[in-house]
Amino acid sequence: MSLLSIEGVWKSFHGHSVLRGIDLEVRPHEVVSLIGASGSGKSTLLRCVNLLETVDDGTIRLDGDDITDPRVRVDDVRKRLGIVFQAFNLFPHMTVLDNITLAPRRVHGVSKAQAEEQARDLLDRFGLAGKAGAYPDSLSGGQQQRVAVIRALATQPRLILLDEVTSALDPQLVLEVLGIIRELKESGMTMILTTHEMGFCRDISDTVCFLDGGVLLEKGPPEQIFREPEHERTRAFLRSVL
Ligand code: ADP
Ligand code: MG
Repeated sequence: MSLLSIEGVWKSFHGHSVLRGIDLEVRPHEVVSLIGASGSGKSTLLRCVNLLETVDDGTIRLDGDDITDPRVRVDDVRKRLGIVFQAFNLFPHMTVLDNITLAPRRVHGVSKAQAEEQARDLLDRFGLAGKAGAYPDSLSGGQQQRVAVIRALATQPRLILLDEVTSALDPQLVLEVLGIIRELKESGMTMILTTHEMGFCRDISDTVCFLDGGVLLEKGPPEQIFREPEHERTRAFLRSVL
């Protein structure tokens, strides 16, 4: 069964359709990348999955549950998702450890001791063991973004959504964040990500989706999309970014 199932999703802002009948199935452990020009609807689709936007039409199911049902409890859905954005969104007045343990403690009711033990394990695993007591502004951009990924992982989500997580970083810091995403894939995490890093996208994705003006125009394994795309618009996009 699909872990996430998106069926016929439409979304418009001020009468302008931004998502036009999106269908997408994501299997457990699958890494799906959304590519497409700026404004093609990539972030909006992730925001619909995370219920930061309500869909106008269509259905999104997470583990078979219709999360677009208006009676759904948003917090219950968000508990099952991890999301990381381009801007790091760490709380500046809280240490790294407190940033990571906040949701497990407040939302999931995990004890302080247990949340901290788990956070330290994650920091260790991602090469930030010495940074538990540091404040975000003392870390590099790459380290901050790694903390943001760890924070998303700390609640043991079913699915992680990553929106342009390397876009705000200097090129040398991009690599450390890409490394952590690669490790997440190896650990079997299911992910949907948007990226402008085509080399990385090709390398990490099981499925690549090309969005064009809110339409999911083409999807397939990276070899197919990058080597022999079916649509002229996909070819034109790839020419413009490669
Ligand atoms: P992408 O992530 O592919 O660059 P977005 O999903 O951010 O694209 O945006 C798709 C379109 O929707 C853009 O034209 C954008 O201006 C518009 N849009 C996104 N969010 C809003 C919003 N909250 N209000 C109005 N327009 C929006
Ligand atoms: Mg975007």
